[in-house]
Amino acid sequence: MSSGEYQKGLLEKMPKTIRKIFNWGRSFSLWPVHLVTGCCSPEYMQLFGPRYDLERWGILPLASARQSDVMIFVGNVARKMMIRAKKIYEHMPEPKWVYVVGACASSKGPFPESYSLVRVKDYMKVDMFVAGCPPKPESIHYGFLKLRERVLNEVGMYESAGAIKST
Ligand code: SF4
Repeated sequence: MSSGEYQKGLLEKMPKTIRKIFNWGRSFSLWPVHLVTGCCSPEYMQLFGPRYDLERWGILPLASARQSDVMIFVGNVARKMMIRAKKIYEHMPEPKWVYVVGACASSKGPFPESYSLVRVKDYMKVDMFVAGCPPKPESIHYGFLKLRERVLNEVGMYESAGAIKST
């Protein structure tokens, strides 16, 4: 039994009220480990400045993989980077979510014929996409709030276990 399945079993046995408390706590402590590249990156960086201040939602950057529960891809993702990202993803405990920002990470954006860029969804289950080239900081912020809703409602929790495609 994988640790994800074990945790899922524990969660299912808990009374609903306790689960709600757990999920409420998780929704205010989403710590992203991030892969941020390309011209989308300045849009993402603004989220941790005073104007958008994502930390007020408990979303802290710079956490280590062992303490993170969201993997965020921003900008263009190369095949070689994805191999490393996959290893980091495997270090993250369950439950965990994947958040993809921008056209490049979603669908290779303006580089559909690139030999080196990949789409994140071909390698792991993605829980949230934000479209745009680049998306505005407001859109990325909104995506995080929608992801919080999924956490509160247990949408997609534990489904990611074993969902990674080999490279
Ligand atoms: S989606 Fe557009 S803005 Fe973002 S990294 Fe790709 S080309 Fe740049």
